[in-house]
Amino acid sequence: MRLVLLGAPGSGKGTQGEKLVAHFGIPKISTGDALRAAVKAQTPLGLTAKAAMDAGDLVANEVVYGIVEERLAQPDAQKGCILDGFPRNLAQAQVLDTMLTRIGKGDIDKALHLHVTDEEIVKRLLDRAQKEGRADDTEAVIRHRIEVYNAETRPLLDYYGKQGKLVKVEGVGGLEEIYQRILGVLK
Ligand code: ADP
Repeated sequence: MRLVLLGAPGSGKGTQGEKLVAHFGIPKISTGDALRAAVKAQTPLGLTAKAAMDAGDLVANEVVYGIVEERLAQPDAQKGCILDGFPRNLAQAQVLDTMLTRIGKGDIDKALHLHVTDEEIVKRLLDRAQKEGRADDTEAVIRHRIEVYNAETRPLLDYYGKQGKLVKVEGVGGLEEIYQRILGVLK
């Protein structure tokens, strides 16, 4: 199973993705987590990515391609993977398809859209900002990240929709309730 998680920041992709990791026994590849780790370790890649991340902009495509390609090549990802936060624009989606073809690992099977309204997203992210203090969780940056999502990432719903791969779930409710909805549409 090769699954792409789509949804606005704060839609619950990370949390539900973890549950799916346990269910399917395949790893989750999160470019956001990988980038935050690189920033923390102050690697050259992290230093390049930091300004864009703090501003709520996308990091340059070339920066994330390396992360994904390396991760896809690892043994635990051979059976499949759950992509969280990648692809995030059309160019990335096309490059992902090319990468999978090149390494002979077959296509993306499904793209799961976790749908949450903008209003709810702002509320959740402000709440998370207070609890976790992530550098990109101030209100202005949060609003900007939602704009970036709507402009850059939302078109992917169409991209996967046209390929008959898109499934949608309402991302509001209890964690377990949402998880069951997801398992339902992935069957
Ligand atoms: P979110 O809470 O927005 O879902 P992520 O943890 O996925 O956040 O990503 C945090 C930040 O890392 C993004 O705002 C962006 O700057 C950068 N980032 C993550 N994934 C990508 C990607 N695929 N392409 C470009 N930038 C990315």
